[in-house]
Amino acid sequence: MNARDNLTTVLDAIAKAEADAGRATNSVRLVAVSKTHDADAIRPVIEAGQRVFGENRVQEAQGKWPGLKEETAGIELHLIGPLQSNKAEDAVALFDVIETIDREKIARTIAREMEKQGRKPKLYVQVNTGGEEQKAGIAPEETVSFVGFCRDELGLAIEGLMCIPPVDENPGPHFALLAKLAGECGLEKLSMGMSGDYETAIAFGATEVRVGSAIFGARDYSV
Ligand SMILES: *Cc1c(COP(=O)(O)O)cnc(C)c1O
Repeated sequence: MNARDNLTTVLDAIAKAEADAGRATNSVRLVAVSKTHDADAIRPVIEAGQRVFGENRVQEAQGKWPGLKEETAGIELHLIGPLQSNKAEDAVALFDVIETIDREKIARTIAREMEKQGRKPKLYVQVNTGGEEQKAGIAPEETVSFVGFCRDELGLAIEGLMCIPPVDENPGPHFALLAKLAGECGLEKLSMGMSGDYETAIAFGATEVRVGSAIFGARDYSV
């Protein structure tokens, strides 16, 4: 199957998962994760109508997305990977949504860059629902106060929460935890679910699913 056909398959599965969960049609948005794939691989998916894409590395995204954005109006680019302070300027300049705000320092840096550039990407807070040491994200028990800090101290309009459950665990409880925390924060956007579990995430209330390999095929990190 090519990426175009895969896109159709994923969109159909999203629609079915929405219906099965008793949710409104088009209540879930697909973020097509194009990391490791070059502009030529991405273009057919844009031509098929997809406009929302995710990348996990600022530098890699800079190599392909300015050109692709110029070719097609209405592209919305999400940063879904960990963000370093020295990349904040570039991230604010390129991305329309930054999903990985997860600590005071980066929140302050992003706020400063937004002010400086006069750009306002939408912002989500990443939560480390599994408490994994190697994984980015704020601890679940600190999420409500951190979102409050971003809002009240920095004036950042946080719109949602994002998580990546541990690979070796049933994702359901992690999705449920993220949904509960979003409720406590008064946030509506929930970015959760990847190729292996987006239908489950939709059942738990995901408003955005981040799907890569089910659309673009397996990633080759050797090139
Ligand atoms: C790579 C990635 C995805 C997509 O993963 P697939 O399993 O290929 O769908 C989703 N979210 C994040 C944060 C990623 O880094």
